[in-house]
This record gives sequence, structure tokens and C-alpha cells, in this order.
Amino acid sequence: MTHAAVAKARKLGPVFAARARKWDVERTYCWDNIADLVDAGIMGMTIPEELGGLGASYLNVTEVIEEIAKVCTLTARVVVEANMGGISAVMAYGTKAQKAFCAPIVLAGDKPAICITEPNAGSAATEMQTTAQRRGGTYVINGTKHWITGGGVSKLHLIFARVLDDDGSGLGIGGFIVHVDPLAGIEPKGFSVLGRERTMGLCGMPETTLKFEDLVVDAAMALIPPSGFKRGFADLMNAYNSQRVGAGTIAMGVAAGAFEHAKRYLTERQQFGRPLAEFQGLQWMVADMDTQLHAARLMLHEAARSRGPNNSQFPDMTMAARAKLFASEMAIKVVSDSLQMFGARGYGDQEPLERMYRDVRMFTIGGGTGQVLRTQIAGSVLGIKTPQARDGYARAATKSKEVKS
Ligand SMILES: Cc1cc2nc3c(=O)[nH]c(=O)nc-3n(C[C@H](O)[C@H](O)[C@H](O)COP(=O)(O)OP(=O)(O)OC[C@H]3O[C@@H](n4cnc5c(N)ncnc54)[C@H](O)[C@@H]3O)c2cc1C
Repeated sequence: MTHAAVAKARKLGPVFAARARKWDVERTYCWDNIADLVDAGIMGMTIPEELGGLGASYLNVTEVIEEIAKVCTLTARVVVEANMGGISAVMAYGTKAQKAFCAPIVLAGDKPAICITEPNAGSAATEMQTTAQRRGGTYVINGTKHWITGGGVSKLHLIFARVLDDDGSGLGIGGFIVHVDPLAGIEPKGFSVLGRERTMGLCGMPETTLKFEDLVVDAAMALIPPSGFKRGFADLMNAYNSQRVGAGTIAMGVAAGAFEHAKRYLTERQQFGRPLAEFQGLQWMVADMDTQLHAARLMLHEAARSRGPNNSQFPDMTMAARAKLFASEMAIKVVSDSLQMFGARGYGDQEPLERMYRDVRMFTIGGGTGQVLRTQIAGSVLGIKTPQARDGYARAATKSKEVKS
């Protein structure tokens, strides 16, 4: 069944390739591609069959992501976020009602937005200031998030906030599901999209600032992992391990796509009376690129197949961090070397290489920077809990009452 999804993704490749420049130049969201992804059953393919998805594994979805990333980075990001990250957190920790509510929205084409980062809380996510104050059967959210992917186009939002009890005491960090759909008249009071960043790559994806002013969320929409709010942030961040595998796979797929262009060009283009492919200086580059790509794919597949502590539904944190770190840095080099092989032609926009180069730069930043991933890997290798890991439990612990209990 899921091999069929890979075949469908391959079939859509030329269609998505032909549209990729348009999203980039016009800075528009890839709605046409999403309609095709819905038809192909790729949106929400990891959602269990009983909820309408394919119940596909993370490994299967990475194979689909690679195919799509070869031709359109933007569309590949949509596929990651419609199958991993926010939606996988809901499928792992959500109540029956939350799952039944979110699944059809994603299957119909939504890419949920995950809202963690704030102006003063980037890598140090646990320093977030957004609060969710319990008031009877509701939570009232106040705060500002920035660099939120999909603000203004996403319907589902998973908003992370510092949870305060009725008496104002801190309970930990929790996630809250908020549904926004202006076309259907669903416009929660106190939820606004303030602005959009002008990015160097992935230009069709809105990266936005969201503001919450006394946004009232029903308590039934609080996503509470088994460990409760107390240690819940670390659990919720486990969902990020699958998103990291997805992000690393996009980077690897972009590199694989760029490499395919380069290999073709090396046999077509002649200089000094022979094809470029005959020059040893370029052959050694090809060998290095092929080797690095192969290593990244193996690491990503290993992470996709793994399970974290207690046989969790999410990939192992260290394997996911390692794979994303390696793939994202490898991809920048491989795409850059592919562009180099095209000479001046690679620098111009008649080839997709310049767009791929701008797009792929993002993956060492978003979803945990290369430095933060190294910190996490080192912590795991050395067997210590580093205070600056992105799940940051040790640091958060010194601030709120959860550690004292
Ligand atoms: C395109 C894009 C999409 C994004 N989408 C989302 C989204 O949908 N939702 C969301 O919540 N966030 C999103 N983000 C935000 C992203 O997660 C943050 O940018 C990232 O976590 C880094 O935070 P920062 O940008 O504030 O950098 P900072 O944390 O300010 O870091 C600045 C630099 O210092 C380094 N640094 C920080 N701490 C350490 C340390 N302890 N040791 C060594 N070096 C360190 C960093 O690696 C970086 O190089 C997105 C970002 C981008 C670029």
C-alpha cells in the first residue's frame, strides 16, 4: 500500500517540478500540489487506518518525502508536517475526540502548524513566556510566537505554552490544539497572524508571527501526554524526533535531486573536447557526493525505523538528532557542489539549482540548529543531561514547581 504511495509521489514528480519555480517567484503557497497530495493519499498517510489514513510507518513516509523533495522543497515540507511532528503528537497523546477531530482536517489537506518559538525563546525553548492560564473548563492563552511555519494557511495549530493553574502556580509546559479556518467562519477571538518574514528560500511557505490575546481554548483541547504537564514538554518534544527525521529527509532529498541534475549535466556538457564527466577533479567530487548521500539516507532510515525509550511511537532522539545534523550539513555541500558543476548556468535561474541552494540552507536552523543537535548528541554520548538541550528539562526544572515534587 505504501509502496503505492512512493509510486504516486514519483508520478507527481514532473508535475511538482514544473510548478516549483512559480511558488518560489510568486511567494505563494502550493495549494495545487496539496490537492494532488490529498488525491494520492499522501496527506496524513501516517494517520491510523481506523481514522482514515494509511497507517504508514515513518520509514515509508521518508521514502515519499525524498521523492518529493527532489523536485519541490516546499511541497516536501508540507508532507512532513502533515505526517510527522504536530499531527504525530496528537495521534500519540491525543484523546479519542482530539484524534477524531484532527485526522479529517489533515486528510483533507491541512498541514498543522507547531507553535513553539518566541522572540526571546529560540534554542532555549523552555524559556517561552506564552502562558495558558486555567480558568474553569478552559485555558486562556496569551503570548507571541514567531517563525511559525504555515501561519495564515494552516487550520490546526499546536500551541505550546507555560501552563498556570487556577491559582496562578506553574504546572509545566503544555500543548493546545487550536482550530482556525476563516473561509469556514472559524476565527477564534484573540488569535491573529501579525506578519510574515521575507525568507531567502522556501519562499512559498509563510513564516509568520502569531499573537494570542486572551485566546480561550476548551480544556478538552489540551494535549496532555501520559506524564501530564509536569514532564509533558519532554514527551511532546519526542514528537519532534519524527519531525527531525522528516526535515533531514527533505534536505537529503533536495541534495539527491540536485545530484541527479549534476550527473546528467556532466555527461551532456563538453569542455576541452570531452564531457565534463571525464575530468578526474569532478569524478572525485561525484564520488564524495554519492558517498555522503548514501550515508545520510542510511542514518535517516535507521532513525525512522527506531523507537525511543519505553518503545515510544517516536524515533530515538539521538538517532534523529544525528541523522538530521548529518543530512542537513551534507545537503548544503552536495547542492552547492552540484551547482558548481553547472558553472555559470547553475548560478542563473534557468536551472533549479539556485532555488535548491537557497531552500536547503534552512535545514541546519529550523527544528533544532546544528549546534543544539550537537549538544543533544554529546549529552547522550557522555550520558549527561545538558542544560541547553532543546527539551531543556534540567533548565526548566530550576524554574517551576514541577521538579520539587
Ligand atoms: C524557516 C524556518 C521555519 C521555522 N518554523 C518553525 C515553526 O514552525 N515553529 C516553531 O516553533 N519554530 C520554527 N522555527 C524556529 C526555529 O525552531 C528556531 O529558529 C531555532 O530553534 C533557533 O532559534 P533562534 O532562531 O531563535 O536562534 P537562537 O537560539 O537565538 O540561536 C542563534 C545561534 O546561536 C546558536 N546557539 C544557541 N544556543 C546555543 C548553545 N547552547 N550552544 C551553542 N550554540 C547555540 C544557535 O545554534 C544559532 O546558531 C523556524 C525557523 C526557520 C528558519
